[in-house]
Amino acid sequence: MLKIAILVREETTARCTGHGCLRSFFAKTESFSRYRGVDIELIGFLHSGGDLDYKLAKMKEAGVQVIHVSTCMRGKHPGYEELVKKISVDFDVVGYTHGSEHGKIIKTVSVTGKYI
Ligand code: SF4
Repeated sequence: MLKIAILVREETTARCTGHGCLRSFFAKTESFSRYRGVDIELIGFLHSGGDLDYKLAKMKEAGVQVIHVSTCMRGKHPGYEELVKKISVDFDVVGYTHGSEHGKIIKTVSVTGKYI
């Protein structure tokens, strides 16, 4: 079972229900289509605010292997690339959740530095 977490933009959570991210996760579409035929489990749905280091440590502890950074983070978060680099030390990172793979910024990095 592959354990996954979704990291979304704090400011967006004031208006967004997370429906787009969750719909694509459960239907295995868009960024999650790569998991067709693979058992996946959603371990966390967290936003970027507060004590993010603590939240990431808890995700690591819970066995999360891959973090999908939300599409709204990719499109609107000024520190997106630094954030992706930071989390890719401990996790494989996919740089979007729903919508086009080719968004405003495309950045998908794994722990090995390989783009995925
Ligand atoms: S990517 Fe879409 S559904 Fe997910 S948190 Fe951002 S706006 Fe909401």
